[in-house]
Amino acid sequence: MHELSICSSMIGIVRKHAAGREVRTVNIRIGAMRQIVPDTLAYCWSLVTESSELAGTELQVERIPAKIRCTGCGREQVLDALAMACESCPGCTVDLIEGDEFLITSLELAEV
Ligand SMILES: [Zn+2]
Repeated sequence: MHELSICSSMIGIVRKHAAGREVRTVNIRIGAMRQIVPDTLAYCWSLVTESSELAGTELQVERIPAKIRCTGCGREQVLDALAMACESCPGCTVDLIEGDEFLITSLELAEV
């Protein structure tokens, strides 16, 4: 499963940033183009952290819609379907300007 490998690599990043401190919540940002199901991701996170010091940490997912810019007319639009095309001038090329992110934005640590 795609989400499972993402969670495994996330553990490494979270551990590094937490540096031994107790983590309550992990805030992440996922672009729509990543085709990640937040619920599946949260489930995988609980699986991979289960037997570690990160057990019980909450995953807060922020979804970023995919946004494209047409290279022909410069029009920017949010994609509702994953169709990479400009609505104004079909056939011209578009650049993906938002929607491909996968970031751990912040960690909320337990008060010491
Ligand atoms: Zn266009």
